[in-house]
Amino acid sequence: MTALDDLPPLRDVIRRYDLAAKKSLGQNFLLDLNLTARIARAAAPLANTTVVEIGPGPGGLTRALLALGAKRVIAVERDARAVAALADIAAHYPGRLTIVEGDALAFDPRPHLTAGPVRIVANLPYNIATPLLTGWLATEPWPPWFDRMVLMFQREVAERLVATPGSKAYGRLSILTQWRTHPDILFDVSPKAFVPPPKVVSSVVSFVPRPAPLACDRRTLERVTEAAFGQRRKMLRQSLKTLGADPAGLLEQAWIAPTARAEEIAVEGFVRLANAFAARTAA
Ligand code: SAM
Repeated sequence: MTALDDLPPLRDVIRRYDLAAKKSLGQNFLLDLNLTARIARAAAPLANTTVVEIGPGPGGLTRALLALGAKRVIAVERDARAVAALADIAAHYPGRLTIVEGDALAFDPRPHLTAGPVRIVANLPYNIATPLLTGWLATEPWPPWFDRMVLMFQREVAERLVATPGSKAYGRLSILTQWRTHPDILFDVSPKAFVPPPKVVSSVVSFVPRPAPLACDRRTLERVTEAAFGQRRKMLRQSLKTLGADPAGLLEQAWIAPTARAEEIAVEGFVRLANAFAARTAA
């Protein structure tokens, strides 16, 4: 194990603060500081950067981010036991670690931010990883307040994020993600790296926001993809009936064959479909 700092080993921190992992909080801790440093490096350059970290737990990734030069880390943690452990890290890096005790799903970091780039970096609690991501992808206005996200997911979720048309994993999450960002799977992490080990392999994914996503209303895009993938095996002329608009006319306006299925249509096609639907409902 590389000594990133002279704080105590994470196993000692877990013992001292009685941080036995709770499944209900999606707690799978990373105790290998080489690995937490690898994730922090994936978010580089960190100098002058504020990092918003979700679920720091005993603080392995937090320590790596600070040791590798993050100007400031704003860490949101729900578990009061971990908040106590994190106070030692805050004391070691005066003025650089802000610990917020609370629910990341309800947390808006914007009032805490000062000048300079902001990045979201986290080994996410898997039980709320997708709602957290969709919340950030729904940020208005766009481009958002963060310049990148580097996040760990279950491999199966990561595959859905980067999936392309025609693949089984392609769906609503792929479209929303790729409409607004360039996602990229950086590397996998074995279950053995965590305490306790999860059942599945994890992947670290980077998301770079697109400065100018194809113009379309996000809610309408979500509505259209929900209808299309609600019955993904059916032809769109059938599945889009749930929108309450004439599917054949919509599809024609969006230059999509009425016999096409949702999983064959690229993001651009769904954007055209959303714009056609928005025009109908506004008329
Ligand atoms: N970052 C640590 C690491 O890599 O070892 C812990 C990661 S663990 C997968 C997820 C963390 O998120 C836990 O510390 C858990 O307590 C925290 N957490 C779970 N639900 C949360 C929520 N709603 N808001 C904030 N933190 C949460």
